[in-house]
Amino acid sequence: MSHYDLIIIGSGPAGRAAAIQAGKLKRRVLVIDRKDRFGGVSVHTGTIPSKTLRETVLNLSGWRERSFYGRSYRVKDDIGAHDLKARLHKTLDYEVDVLEHQFNRNHVDTLNGAARFTGPHEIEVATEAGEKTILTADRFLIATGTKTYRPETVPFNGSSVVDSDEFLDLAQIPRSLIVVGAGVIGVEYATMFSALDVRVTLIEPRETFLDFIDRAIIQDFTHQILENGVDLRLGSAIDRIETTPGHVEVSLANGRHVRAEMLLFAAGRMGATDGLNLSAAGLKSDHRGRLSVDRKTYQTDIPHIYAAGDVIGHPSLASTSLQQGRVAACHALDTPTLPESPWFPYGIYSVPEISTCGMSEEEMQERGIPYEVGVARFRETSRGHIMGLEHGMLKMLFSLKTRRVLGVQIVGEGATELIHIAQAVLNLKGTVDYFVQNTFNYPTLAEAYKIAGLDAFNRMPIPEEYKVRRDPPAAPAALPGDTSADSSR
Ligand SMILES: Cc1cc2nc3c(=O)[nH]c(=O)nc-3n(C[C@H](O)[C@H](O)[C@H](O)COP(=O)(O)OP(=O)(O)OC[C@H]3O[C@@H](n4cnc5c(N)ncnc54)[C@H](O)[C@@H]3O)c2cc1C
Repeated sequence: MSHYDLIIIGSGPAGRAAAIQAGKLKRRVLVIDRKDRFGGVSVHTGTIPSKTLRETVLNLSGWRERSFYGRSYRVKDDIGAHDLKARLHKTLDYEVDVLEHQFNRNHVDTLNGAARFTGPHEIEVATEAGEKTILTADRFLIATGTKTYRPETVPFNGSSVVDSDEFLDLAQIPRSLIVVGAGVIGVEYATMFSALDVRVTLIEPRETFLDFIDRAIIQDFTHQILENGVDLRLGSAIDRIETTPGHVEVSLANGRHVRAEMLLFAAGRMGATDGLNLSAAGLKSDHRGRLSVDRKTYQTDIPHIYAAGDVIGHPSLASTSLQQGRVAACHALDTPTLPESPWFPYGIYSVPEISTCGMSEEEMQERGIPYEVGVARFRETSRGHIMGLEHGMLKMLFSLKTRRVLGVQIVGEGATELIHIAQAVLNLKGTVDYFVQNTFNYPTLAEAYKIAGLDAFNRMPIPEEYKVRRDPPAAPAALPGDTSADSSR
């Protein structure tokens, strides 16, 4: 029986970051994953595949060039599922290779198999071949992530009715697609396939969607996706989903019907804790399989057992999971580390992209913070013209009291990269003046920050000390013996 300083269950971003951190601290660490390839949902069915697919779609469809060459322009005419998959497999193989190299270099032990607790300090790992191993550790990290939510009322068949894991195994690109659930995953896939000229219907039972994003940004986004051809059905509860040869039919509670060749069900995910036998460790998950932790240390109610990543719920991002995993490992291995910054960015890789950091205008209003808004449209920037961007906007929110930037919201090309300027200024407690005082590369989309900053600055009261600074400079005092002033008269 082997004993470790830290055993990590799950090799997604949280497990990966924790393992590498533990390896760097020269501790005995083991990562277990029930999948035969490491990397988790992030590498195999979530973040990396969906973003690779997006890049492939935008490149092959010539999406970014269409404002110059017309809506029918395509770089490749007969884009098939094999085109999408070729790049996908290459990227995933590379990601796994990098990950395995990182584990090797940092002396992280790995094991394939499904782990379950047999006691607070003991787990059993069952391999696919049926072998069982018992292992013990001083500390554990549960980083088992999530699995797709598959309600019994949905007739999943792996081909015409699929969840977001199965969707990547497309045999062919459907001519029409229904996406159920306008959350991040649903919106990303719906808009990606619409960019491929697939007829997409996006169904959401609620009247609104992506509620954590500023409403002005969602209005702009909605306008763009409708213009791109997505049939968005909000407030459309589903009554029935039926399959017939070659078609899927959705009957909506409002009496309408939608037919398509394929249906992607993307309405939620559940914490992957059901196989862990949590009770043996003294733990319990909530009704959605999630674990609760102290959000500073990532300790569960059982102090030597930590949990990080999607299994602890919001915000359920690969980016935040990486951060949480590293912090959890440091705490578990008694190593001081910095506290996490309060503001992290959200990236939604839809077409167009959305990215935000800090508060939305609605949140500022709810909190009763007096504010000013600065807005820039990408078409106002020279870079936007060069790129042929007709849409895209950046919105910044500033406190009227402190002048600090408290929220930035972007929709449009490059949003997920651009947001990091805002994130830095926000976390470093910068103000509107940063954007006014500093020079931005020209031409860039980042210039939108300058425009939005000036937009707000020009409407904000000018502080007293700024007025003093704008007085004409005093005449320089004459140096002893200097008569030049006299001679100039
Ligand atoms: C379609 C899609 C797109 C996404 N896009 C983005 C994005 O653009 N940006 C972003 O930041 N995030 C994105 N995410 C979210 C991101 O993938 C997750 O936040 C991230 O993968 C969570 O990481 P994790 O470490 O919690 O575990 P996961 O990546 O979920 O991995 C958990 C691992 O644990 C293993 N496991 C589970 N139970 C056991 C067990 N009992 N024994 C052994 N192993 C076990 C699983 O096999 C799995 O490999 C996306 C997700 C999806 C589904």
